[in-house]
Amino acid sequence: MIPFLDLKGLNLSLAPELQAASARVLESGWFVLGQEVEDFEAEFADYCQADHAIAVANGLDALHLILRAYDIGPGDEVIVPTNTYIATWLAVSYAGARPVPVEPLLSTYNMDPAAIEAAITPRTRAIMPVHLYGQTARMAPIMALAERHGLKVIEDAAQSHGASQHGRRAGSLGHAAGFSFYPGKNLGALGDGGAITTSDPVLAHRLRRLRNYGSRTKYQNDEKGFNSRLDELQAAFLRVKLRRLDDWNQRRRQIAERYLATLDGLGLILPHVEPGNVTCWHLFVVRCVRRDELHTALLEAGVQTAIHYPIPPHLQPAYADLGHTEGSFPLSECLHREVLSLPMGPTLSDDEVAEVIAAITRVATLLDLPATTASSAV
Ligand SMILES: *Cc1c(COP(=O)(O)O)cnc(C)c1O
Repeated sequence: MIPFLDLKGLNLSLAPELQAASARVLESGWFVLGQEVEDFEAEFADYCQADHAIAVANGLDALHLILRAYDIGPGDEVIVPTNTYIATWLAVSYAGARPVPVEPLLSTYNMDPAAIEAAITPRTRAIMPVHLYGQTARMAPIMALAERHGLKVIEDAAQSHGASQHGRRAGSLGHAAGFSFYPGKNLGALGDGGAITTSDPVLAHRLRRLRNYGSRTKYQNDEKGFNSRLDELQAAFLRVKLRRLDDWNQRRRQIAERYLATLDGLGLILPHVEPGNVTCWHLFVVRCVRRDELHTALLEAGVQTAIHYPIPPHLQPAYADLGHTEGSFPLSECLHREVLSLPMGPTLSDDEVAEVIAAITRVATLLDLPATTASSAV
């Protein structure tokens, strides 16, 4: 079976270095907010071309704390994509604000700037574009809208470590960005982790306080903060892995290029990368009108694929209170029926890629899919 993602193999390939990192933390005797976190923050800020990085407990907290640091809360609206992992929405809900969903562009599956503009009300405080699957959203028009309406732009960069737009990295394209280091992300810890990047020193200062009980000086609490810290062990592991990130993303790019070159004309809609974007290929997502049959047939052929995501946030029971129903966001609902993520990761070998391509070619031919031009593009 070709796995969708071989996390075990990836981490085991670094075993001696990860063990050395863990020994270093053990020897230091310091486990929370110490030198490893400080060094990782400097290295990660530098990597993202941002002035500051603030390490936190996970990606959801990163997004939530940014909203708190901007004093966004009850009565406020934050514009979010319909087509994302639910964490984007939950960050807004945690802050007490209302997530206002907008539809994606069908070319990139990222937020449509025209839809954002139409959703702006006097209560709107921020826009939260997600760089979905590793490709950055159209930041120039989004920043222009924000400028015109006095809004903050918070990048959900949980899937875009190392992605760039016109030479600027994800994490430096908006006013602030939230990253996740969940193990399966392009830069993953051996547990949970997250970070915020920003070039706003005032925001960075507030965030350092908010993540640590509202305190900058021990036992002095300037505000009601949270406990959301990256621990020293995870920071030490992430420092080892950050040094590999560019090579890993490069390998993902090679795999994506092979998929793009060989899977054309089989009745699948392949991903489209916009000019100026360098994606980090967190996921390689194809669309197929008979997605579930393709998914099952590939599994039988020994290829594990995944669905990101099967149910959009607006149709989750968790968000029944917002009153959205089936049909509220047809583009996003169509995507959720059709998307399928192919095996992708830095440890996938050339032979495995060839096997995936052969299996898809065989299965797609058997399914006799309609030509992509005639498929379900809404
Ligand atoms: C993974 C992810 C998150 C949340 O990150 P956690 O570290 O799991 O809290 C947020 N947004 C998107 C788009 C993600 O993929």
